[in-house]
Amino acid sequence: MLRRGPQEISRGVFLVAGGGLTDPADCLCYLVAAGDRSVLIDTGAGDSIGRIVKNVQAAGVAPSSVTHIVLTHGHADHVGGATEARDKLAAQLVAHAGDARAIETGDPRRTGAAWYGMSLPALTLDVTVEGEAYDLPLSEAGDEILRLIHTPGHTPGSMCAVLDRDGRRVLFGQDIHGPFSADFDSDVAAWAQSMARLLELEADVLAEGHFGVFEGADQVAAFINQHLRAQGFAGR
Ligand SMILES: [Zn+2]
Ligand SMILES: [Zn+2]
Repeated sequence: MLRRGPQEISRGVFLVAGGGLTDPADCLCYLVAAGDRSVLIDTGAGDSIGRIVKNVQAAGVAPSSVTHIVLTHGHADHVGGATEARDKLAAQLVAHAGDARAIETGDPRRTGAAWYGMSLPALTLDVTVEGEAYDLPLSEAGDEILRLIHTPGHTPGSMCAVLDRDGRRVLFGQDIHGPFSADFDSDVAAWAQSMARLLELEADVLAEGHFGVFEGADQVAAFINQHLRAQGFAGR
């Protein structure tokens, strides 16, 4: 039985799915609460949207304030709930161009849906991010942003998100650990470059997609370096 409510991992940042909160097939999904423009990061595999919306409410956030849903990459455990989440939250779906076609066609190979024995419906993204970075304003005035950065490797269109709040930098790094597969069009060399860029951010908190939340810049760097070494790179 799932009993725990959303967990606040940094001020206004909540774990709302995965991690025992919702269906075991779900990745960890996070809510960045910000007054009138909140953002949901990933949607899980698809069976948990009702509970995710309840967790958003339990976090004290009006579902109507969620303006964007960031799909960090095209894998089924992250995007399976995208259509229902968009409908329930009346929010815009955002993903990187590198994974857009896989997501929009529900490609069973590139989304990993075949791995999970799932089939994904076709959908149309509302915002397709091109290039290296994209800033989502978290307020009308734009004084706080959620920066999306392109971190190809696990998939061609993988993105991370960065929030600077209260002097703390939170890095949302879904599946920065991998895995890597020709089925996903993974590129380990590109991934190593992406990880080097993430290390330069010196984030204070890492909110990962399956391994949980890492607190402290040294712990964040250790997690990334551990995976770099596991892939035969020197780390930093
Ligand atoms: Zn993935
Ligand atoms: Zn995943």
